[in-house]
Amino acid sequence: MCLSGTLEDKLAATAAAGFDGIEIFEADLVASPWAPAELAARCADLGLSIDLYQPFRDLDSTDADRFARNLRRAERKFDVMAALGTDTVLVCSSVAPDAVDDPDRLAGQLTEAATRAGERGLRIAYEALAWGRHVSTWERSWDAVRRADSPALGLCLDSFHVLSRGGDPAGFAVVPGEKLFFLQLADAPHMDMDVLQWSRHHRLFPGQGAFDLTAFLGHVLAAGYTGPLSLEVFNDVFRQADPARAAVDAMRSLLWLEEGLAVRCPELATTPAPLAPRLSGYAFTELAVDGISGPQVAGALAALGFGHTGQHRSKPVQLWEQGAARVLLNASVVRPSAAGVAEVAAIALESADPGRSAARAEAFRAPVLPRTRGAAEADLSAVAAPDGTQVFFARTGPDGWPADFLPTGTEAGLGAGITAVDHVALTQPFDSFDEAGLFYRAVLGLEPESVTEYAAPFGLVRSRAVTGPDRAVRLALSVSLLRRGEWAPGVPAPQHIAFATDDVVATARALRAAGAPLLAVPANYHDDLDARVDLAPGLLADMRECGLFYDADGRGSYLHLFTEVLGSRVFFEVVQRLDGYDGYGTLNAPVRMAAHRRLRRTAETPAPA
Ligand code: MG
Ligand code: MG
Repeated sequence: MCLSGTLEDKLAATAAAGFDGIEIFEADLVASPWAPAELAARCADLGLSIDLYQPFRDLDSTDADRFARNLRRAERKFDVMAALGTDTVLVCSSVAPDAVDDPDRLAGQLTEAATRAGERGLRIAYEALAWGRHVSTWERSWDAVRRADSPALGLCLDSFHVLSRGGDPAGFAVVPGEKLFFLQLADAPHMDMDVLQWSRHHRLFPGQGAFDLTAFLGHVLAAGYTGPLSLEVFNDVFRQADPARAAVDAMRSLLWLEEGLAVRCPELATTPAPLAPRLSGYAFTELAVDGISGPQVAGALAALGFGHTGQHRSKPVQLWEQGAARVLLNASVVRPSAAGVAEVAAIALESADPGRSAARAEAFRAPVLPRTRGAAEADLSAVAAPDGTQVFFARTGPDGWPADFLPTGTEAGLGAGITAVDHVALTQPFDSFDEAGLFYRAVLGLEPESVTEYAAPFGLVRSRAVTGPDRAVRLALSVSLLRRGEWAPGVPAPQHIAFATDDVVATARALRAAGAPLLAVPANYHDDLDARVDLAPGLLADMRECGLFYDADGRGSYLHLFTEVLGSRVFFEVVQRLDGYDGYGTLNAPVRMAAHRRLRRTAETPAPA
């Protein structure tokens, strides 16, 4: 249920991603034309073991006749398991009105079922559903298994069911290792909602949510568990997403978990992936442009104080520089897809060891992209991020990538006070937001920050940044909360590069004097700001004059401005961080979006005759 599709789709995706085995979910089998033995043969061909059959629901009953019928139902499922060649069935705690509450009676019924399973060489892994009628904690399920004391009965631990109820995995130490039959792992975001709905819609792969699964797994292994690590992730997006990609995402989550475990519990560690080298900033950001958008973006960069310093030796690529901020305009990439579009094609990160960065990416299932380069050109390794952006690992230096550019004779621009790239903001495709967070976390060693959600003019938007430890690399990811329909008058999937300055007011005045296409901020915004924030004298007037936005966090404040959209989805931001402000001015995004939308409306509407 982690993957979309039919059994055939799921098996192919799972095997291709390198998994050792699977659980068979009954609904998939029922819908499949394959007989159980045929399914078993296909799994064997793919190198997949069948490690569990599930779910067997509502086994126990206060009604003796119904319990007898449940045992007959179990025997039929044991027949299926025998044909599948799997020896473990998951029995989850009952949610039915006739569920048994009395601990000894429950243990007795579990023993009866386990005895029948044991006679056939099978075993039952009993799982406490977080919403079980009487058994809803792992302690209660362990109490039943302990009382039953049947060799064919053990526990299935599911991280969601334990952690969603605030359970303490340190308690697993009381369970003998041989009673831990099966382990299911799922992460989830913090949510304050009904636990069944939370589980059914919002589970995530490890490393994508808020649970401490490294600690959880450490406790399970310390208790003596030696079975498979299985992922059981019910998620509205994954249920619709390409199963091949989701399976790779899932495998990456386990590799990430394994690495975290090696740090926390070195005695449990296996083969480590290469450690993530330090990333010290953006080497460059590359925009794909065409004959329409290229001159438009180049003109804006010039007005922002950038100089066109270099021309690529073999490709139609321009290098624009100001301070340590570098932008490439590349007219040779296949993207952009439509005429007049500009979009972020690549980000290049300064890596202390680009080769090791690439080796780590491969270890985390992010294949290094094939790349054509000229004889004298720098060998830059790149991997594809989930949204298709190429991520380069680079080192800026005399014999590094800048050597690929012939000097134009123009100096790097200085005029506007831009010093570096502060962050890059990329809207993610609906299907890959959580995948992207884990990609940057695992592959690049960036840490996800907390999730922010806001009401934008055209729908709710979720935003989450991933950052390096010293904030040298900041990447702001956002996504629409719901799949978009046809009506999309806002800027579709906006992307922007934010440049840093030490004096945004001075920079803004320089940009205005140079005729930069700055985004106008409505007077209502500054009136509201004046009402809710005590700003330093004169600052509000400067902000009105310069079209600046404002935000503050517990530490400091943030002054920022935007350009208009250049080539349909890309724009620039200029930011000044004061006193350690650590956010992205997300509060102001709806105002910015409305202003961008207004310009689109103006551009689309023919002038009155
Ligand atoms: Mg295998
Ligand atoms: Mg489960």
